[in-house]
Amino acid sequence: MRQKFVAGNWKMNLTLPEAQALTSEIVQMLHDEQLGADKPQVVICPSFPLLSIVGRLLGEGGNVALGAQNCHQKESGAYTGEVSAKLLQSVGCQYVILGHSERRQYFHEDDELLSQKLKAALGAGLRPIFCVGESLETREAEDTFDFIAKQLKDGLFHLSNEEFDKVVIAYEPIWAIGTGKTATTQQAQEVHAFIREQIAGAYDAEAANNTAILYGGSCNAQNARELFSQPDVDGGLIGGASLKSRDFVTIVQ
Ligand code: PGA
Repeated sequence: MRQKFVAGNWKMNLTLPEAQALTSEIVQMLHDEQLGADKPQVVICPSFPLLSIVGRLLGEGGNVALGAQNCHQKESGAYTGEVSAKLLQSVGCQYVILGHSERRQYFHEDDELLSQKLKAALGAGLRPIFCVGESLETREAEDTFDFIAKQLKDGLFHLSNEEFDKVVIAYEPIWAIGTGKTATTQQAQEVHAFIREQIAGAYDAEAANNTAILYGGSCNAQNARELFSQPDVDGGLIGGASLKSRDFVTIVQ
């Protein structure tokens, strides 16, 4: 059975004391919940300066993994203000979000750059959570499937089978991110099934079947159960609702 995931993307939110308080609450609540055998892998992705301390707090609680929200494509060197995958690994990260639409849009990260970042992350032993998703304009023009196919082909499918094995994919329609507008379960399921087909074409049926595909975009404590009940939805990448301990833990449940 495929691994399920719930990953919290804190984005550029929370001060150090706020992050400590939220992490402790989440660790405590997850400990109390007694999740069953099919529990998801929970990942928390704070901003860079919070990683070490959040990682330490998670370490005490057990099986919540630490992730970053971005990394640089080079291993080290004169890149002022940047953070390498190797450094992330050394402070305890196991995951890194790559290709988030906010990075693509505001920081002009294109498929070529993302390909390099994927290689850097994998080379450092991190598992990428690679995001794809269409804008409202693309959806309205009925170009969603072509658009996603191109993002996958140009950004991701250059990886070898062994590299691709480590990748988690997140489908995040841009029009649903932070807007309160969630994709319907049918919209999510059809894109997830399409992504799985594309993986089967680029690799093989086994790779398609084994790859976790998460949904992201206004996923919350109210709609998570229904979204995650779809056969090709293997969990979620959660923004806003990951900043509230009760909501996040409800989504995990
Ligand atoms: P949201 O963000 O849950 O606040 O819509 C999701 C994301 O951007 O990863």
